[in-house]
Amino acid sequence: MPERPLPAQEDAALAILREVFGFERFRTYQREIIDQVIAGGDALVLMPTGGGKSLCYQIPALARAGAGVVVSPLIALMQDQVAALRQYGVRAAFLNSTLGAAQARAVEEALLDGRIDLLYVAPERLLTDRTLELLERAPIALFAIDEAHCVSQWGHDFRPEYIRLSVLHERFPGVPRIALTATADKATRREIAERLTLHEARVFVSGFDRPNIRYRITEGGASAREALLRFIRDEHGGEAGIVYCLSRRRVEEIAAWLEAKGLTALPYHAGMDAGTRARNQQRFLREDGVIIVATIAFGMGIDKPDVRFVAHLNLPRSLEAYYQETGRAGRDGLPADAWMVYGLQDVITLRRMQEASEAGEAHKRVERHKLDAMLGFCELTTCRREALLRYFDDEFTGPCGNCDTCLEPPRTWDATTAARKALSCVHRTGQRFGVQYLVDVLLGNATERVGRWGHDRLSTYGIGTELDSAGWRNLFRQLIARGLLAVDLEGHGGLRLTEASRPVLRGEQDLALRERVRTRRRATSVSRSTAFEGDAERVLWEALRHRRQELARTQGVPAYVIFHDATLREMVERRPANTEELAAVSGVGARKLAAYGAAFLETIAAHRAAAGTAGDEPGPTAPPGVERKR
Ligand code: ADP
Ligand code: ZN
Repeated sequence: MPERPLPAQEDAALAILREVFGFERFRTYQREIIDQVIAGGDALVLMPTGGGKSLCYQIPALARAGAGVVVSPLIALMQDQVAALRQYGVRAAFLNSTLGAAQARAVEEALLDGRIDLLYVAPERLLTDRTLELLERAPIALFAIDEAHCVSQWGHDFRPEYIRLSVLHERFPGVPRIALTATADKATRREIAERLTLHEARVFVSGFDRPNIRYRITEGGASAREALLRFIRDEHGGEAGIVYCLSRRRVEEIAAWLEAKGLTALPYHAGMDAGTRARNQQRFLREDGVIIVATIAFGMGIDKPDVRFVAHLNLPRSLEAYYQETGRAGRDGLPADAWMVYGLQDVITLRRMQEASEAGEAHKRVERHKLDAMLGFCELTTCRREALLRYFDDEFTGPCGNCDTCLEPPRTWDATTAARKALSCVHRTGQRFGVQYLVDVLLGNATERVGRWGHDRLSTYGIGTELDSAGWRNLFRQLIARGLLAVDLEGHGGLRLTEASRPVLRGEQDLALRERVRTRRRATSVSRSTAFEGDAERVLWEALRHRRQELARTQGVPAYVIFHDATLREMVERRPANTEELAAVSGVGARKLAAYGAAFLETIAAHRAAAGTAGDEPGPTAPPGVERKR
């Protein structure tokens, strides 16, 4: 490509980055990681989703002789990954159980002939004698172990076959290995190094911040799904997103409800038949603007770059899970939302599940700690990003300016007296009643049940008129979240006091709590990622997306495989007029330029012509300010 300075002959990595992938420069650590692997060394890479892990093995695979073998647990996604690479002109293929015998043989032959740059393999396939023997006869550039946290027995993505991948070290001692994951915690990191015998590997840990994701947590109760609908309509009309729910039933219900409201929303959970599930995932990946409503069974390895929001209708079990799930938004670096509604019932359910857990005491302690951290995160009055990153030992000093507590700082109030009333009410009623009942007593509601228990004669009866029912529920939520009240095991939602509640009851400790948000100001009313200054930009943006969709459909590939949104955005901003200018747009490599350059230049030119005739210079018959019809 002319315009660009020719890289020095020996800098193969940079040449590949520019020529093949169309990117100008490396991101943090990419350069170091790539150099390490090209030189034949091992690497363990921890980088957040969207950080650019793929290039860390793709470029060395192209720079070294032989094929890069990528171990990935995600058979369903291999086809798209391979399709995306072929768009760049990379010779990619996969080997998994979806291939027929003849197809598999063709791939094997190509591999032996050195006609493959990157080969994706499922771990169980790789570990068969047949495949291992094949690889011993073929030229191999490297092994990349993607989603490496799957070796961790503690994580929820555990795959037993991953443990056996240490065989690669034994059978291919001369071939460099690179393990990659977006999982942030240190324990998992150690487990990966241990189980994959990566003791000699250089470890690269990049910061875990995802600056383009805006974290927001709203309080909701019965109206959670209404809040969700409003959020999607106001801020993400026509955009792709993931909605996480706890149960399969809730998944079905929410998907159907959103559909009935006119959105394209598809369910996904482990209880559905495999065919429908695969079809829904496929539509989410390939069509523009599909919402997937799912349990946590959905999402690992989904490398769709333009997921504009991840919404949680239930609280995740831990901050690790929250970080991983929300991390699926905004891989392309454009603005994205992590949005969650959370209420009293969530807290009660999770506390009870954790109390009732059958796990051993040590394990339970870990679980309790994780849940406490998650609940504390919800009740924060300070920057959420700071707290999230600190949890992962990542140095970050807020305020970040891109989370709800930064954008609309919540007010706190002195809840000491109210909390004492609530705790004392729990004590006097015998530590066995649920929130609704306690609120009735505090407000002095003469219900039949209250009368039956004689609680209308208690000193705490009717002493809580300073708050309304919602206010008390909010207070109870925060008391449970902070561990000042515990939930009973029997499952009736009865509350009891804890050690931590004593100082507050005795008046030795003050309590400042989050004020309830009554009216929600809306942060924005349009999508921040596709917002353009003028109408002309918007029209061009739509035209380019339309073009992309056509090209994708004729080839049966996802639209983002042609060009990412970020690349189209840059086209809108720069309006390239010729091949050279188009080549300078980030994400336009040599192969894509040759294949699609003309089509996109034509769309831009047509737009320019239309704007020119309809626009700035009014003709003699059209006075300024009067729109001309055409
Ligand atoms: P990860 O696997 O870490 O989640 P990806 O490898 O999918 O991330 O990369 C995320 C996005 O960043 C992709 O759209 C990719 O094309 C882009 N990207 C990666 N490296 C660079 C770079 N050096 N310059 C520009 N864009 C990049
Ligand atoms: Zn913040």
